[in-house]
Amino acid sequence: MNENANIKAEALFESRDRQQFPVCTQVTLNHGICDSRCLSCPIGRLNYGDASEAVKAEFHPQSRTFLPWEIFTRVADEVAQYPHAWLRLHSRGEPLLHPRFVDMVRYAKNAGVRLVQAFTDAITLNEEKAIAILEAGLDVLECSVHGHIETYELLMRNGKFDRVRENVIRFRQLRDELGARTQLVVSAVDQPQFQREKEAHRAFWSQYADQVIYRPHHSWGNRVDGVCGSVPEVRHPCSQLWNRCTVGPTGNVLACFNSWSETEAEVLGNLNDPGEAIVRIWQSDRFVRIRQDHLEGHYTLPCCRSCKDWTGSSWGKESYEHLLNVKLGLGGSNGRKTTTDALTKSTD
Ligand code: SF4
Ligand code: SF4
Repeated sequence: MNENANIKAEALFESRDRQQFPVCTQVTLNHGICDSRCLSCPIGRLNYGDASEAVKAEFHPQSRTFLPWEIFTRVADEVAQYPHAWLRLHSRGEPLLHPRFVDMVRYAKNAGVRLVQAFTDAITLNEEKAIAILEAGLDVLECSVHGHIETYELLMRNGKFDRVRENVIRFRQLRDELGARTQLVVSAVDQPQFQREKEAHRAFWSQYADQVIYRPHHSWGNRVDGVCGSVPEVRHPCSQLWNRCTVGPTGNVLACFNSWSETEAEVLGNLNDPGEAIVRIWQSDRFVRIRQDHLEGHYTLPCCRSCKDWTGSSWGKESYEHLLNVKLGLGGSNGRKTTTDALTKSTD
């Protein structure tokens, strides 16, 4: 019998609030639209021309789409009802390319969302857009700078290193001049080819960013060949299922950010349906069953079966929530010891 069979999945929630509603709601602003060509990313491989046939099929030209505004406002309005919850503007591509990105940030903050975070490769983060984002009230901007002087082009393959460096430094200057709240994070994927410049990257960006972090080299559900460091002998339950809810670019609510194919087994609801809501899906019998199965070592979701990305999905003090709440000072940590403290820790 699995050693976790006597543990109820609900015991892994770090608070009652998180059991009621996901601490992180990740909304996918586009499917397959990016101006970079990163080696570590299926979209980057697609743009460069070295993606697998399966990825090419998932992102065939007709599939590429932007999240409709109406879906976004439904998500933001719901997240705003929960003071512990935060909203991540993510995408299967580059979030800033959504034509209404700034409107989305402004809408979510005016609706009352506690914390809005977004990613960017900073290519289009010119001065005009930077000011608009800062004035819209974004809480955290994470700039993906996967590489440094010698390794950036090898790893991001977009030919824009000088522009990105200038844009990110200027963003920080503007933030300070305007007295804006936005915290600046610079991150890189912790992949083998980056190691020779990792310390130079850290030293450089520590001058400008509020935090510099290194993300696990994960595989995006086996779509690229990344592996998050060493894989523990015993598989631990994946924190994604307890911490994050992902809304896809057409309103499908997904079990995991890796559910890019949105197969029936991985779609738990659709926000276009009248009366549907994230809170209902998060607490649904189906989602409860998926968590309990995971805890007991049964990987019933197709995307989980051969996935190794659980090794980079962190709990407690290794989690992104800890970075936001404690390291960036944007929330509170109750410091309560939970069942998750006993689980294997990894990096995020
Ligand atoms: S910038 Fe982000 S989405 Fe675009 S190719 Fe790189 S990792 Fe992928
Ligand atoms: S094991 Fe992989 S596919 Fe499953 S929930 Fe975790 S990250 Fe997602």
